[in-house]
Amino acid sequence: MALDDLAANETSGLVCAHHHLYSALAPGMPAPPRTPASFRDILELVWWRLDRALDLEMLEWSAKLGALEAIESGTTAIVDHHESPNAIEGSLDVIANACAEVGVRVNCSYGVTDRHGKESAQRGLEENRRYLASGGTGMVGVHATFTCEPDTLLAASELAQNYGVGVHIHVAEGTDDLQANDRLKDLSRDDWLLVHGVHLEDDHGLNGCIVHNPRSNMNNSVGYAAPHRLGLPIALGTDGIGAAMLEEFRIAYARLREHDVAATPELPWSWLETGYRIIPEAVNDRVTWSHGPIDPWRLAFQTNIKPQLVEIDGEVVYTEGELTRADAMEIRTKAAEQAQRLFAKLENMV
Ligand SMILES: [Zn+2]
Repeated sequence: MALDDLAANETSGLVCAHHHLYSALAPGMPAPPRTPASFRDILELVWWRLDRALDLEMLEWSAKLGALEAIESGTTAIVDHHESPNAIEGSLDVIANACAEVGVRVNCSYGVTDRHGKESAQRGLEENRRYLASGGTGMVGVHATFTCEPDTLLAASELAQNYGVGVHIHVAEGTDDLQANDRLKDLSRDDWLLVHGVHLEDDHGLNGCIVHNPRSNMNNSVGYAAPHRLGLPIALGTDGIGAAMLEEFRIAYARLREHDVAATPELPWSWLETGYRIIPEAVNDRVTWSHGPIDPWRLAFQTNIKPQLVEIDGEVVYTEGELTRADAMEIRTKAAEQAQRLFAKLENMV
């Protein structure tokens, strides 16, 4: 973002280092059967019901809506982590194609898990393999250690090495995953994305990049990661709550500052920049903002700056409030229809 040829109101494209595009249809979803009383409840009553209800048509429009929202926020690259246990095969292609149609860069992975049984874990691994073998840009996804058997973690790690990519995995987000450290110690590598790390010990001994998702952590009441204590590179993600990375930066700063009154916005700004280690091409994308200068100390407090022009890989994909490649109105209309199908399914789910 500190490229010399940028104008005062320009940045590179922003990177969302951890997203769940499948959750873009979730706002407005029916309330869960009972009020969640813990993070585990939130997973079981909200997200693990939603992912079971997804089919590929819902996923297509969810991903297009998420991609549209990213571009409208100046985010040109998304690192996605996907799960749809009843629509696994081909799901990563659906996400990649949806993003390509709208024009946003994406790195895809399927979150392998044993919580639906061994066969389902195998199918998840195979979807990662199939997608990477076909030349897709991605990583090998793993849901989290606490829903995976040791042989599944090992298989995911080996698959990633075979394709020269890292593993994208939730780590120690809540107290259910306190064993993550021990279980990943001998597997993790520098190219892994360790998402959350809230409950990691300072001397965890893991390798990889921490992805900090401050709003999601607050929303799930899992605690504050204070990620800078972990001694690893830190990137910023949204964990599926949109892809507005300047907003996530502001939240990261506010939460950091609550923890340490001497902290400065330069630290969370550096976390935004770490995204270019994961999707380097985004550094050459351009966003022209409604006003400048682009300065972390200003942006931490200016809440209404908006993209005016977004250029990805040399092509203008957003200008004067409109997408150039796809019809935003159509995406919103179709996504709303799919959301209704999804909500009806959730209402009828036991
Ligand atoms: Zn996540």
